[in-house]
Amino acid sequence: MIIYGAAGKETGGGKIRTTCINCQEPTTINILIVQRYAHIYWIPFFPSGKKAVSECSNCNHVLEKKNFPEKYKNGYEEIKSRTKTPIWMFTGVGIIALIIIALFIVGRQNDSENAELALSPQKGDIYEIKLSNEQYTIYKVDKVEGNTVYFFENEYMTDRLSGVEELLEKPFTTESYPVMKTDLKVMLENGEIMDIERPE
Ligand SMILES: [Zn+2]
Repeated sequence: MIIYGAAGKETGGGKIRTTCINCQEPTTINILIVQRYAHIYWIPFFPSGKKAVSECSNCNHVLEKKNFPEKYKNGYEEIKSRTKTPIWMFTGVGIIALIIIALFIVGRQNDSENAELALSPQKGDIYEIKLSNEQYTIYKVDKVEGNTVYFFENEYMTDRLSGVEELLEKPFTTESYPVMKTDLKVMLENGEIMDIERPE
């Protein structure tokens, strides 16, 4: 269950000198601006619309923005234009942006690590291989001879990416098969090699 809702916070206000539409007296109309915002789990997420009310300082007559008469509108627009939306109302959006940036950086680091590992394979390296859309397996480096890398292939496959770890417990072929380093580079680039792990 996600707990969310909307709330409002007074963010600005001001006074207009004009004639009240209720008591008809030349007086001061107080304008109050309320910024609405959405919150999720009580974290302010993003601002939504602004609400405004007017109150006559003489007769206390209150109007909502949608009922403002023409003569209130210029004053209201001016007050609204100098009312800033508080930055804390963007907290949730900011958190999500930071998470996306962090994931992007981690992804980039992983990509460059993989590229490095693929260029210098070592005995024992584990390659996560995508065979088709929902078929994954792992290869293990047996030995490297010049430009050729010999792999033991795992005898099992999994239909879930998250199952790849479990394949480490399963048997590999006893004979290893050669793959050219140049082919590994292509496999990495087109996503057939999804990840490379080098045991510590
Ligand atoms: Zn009034």
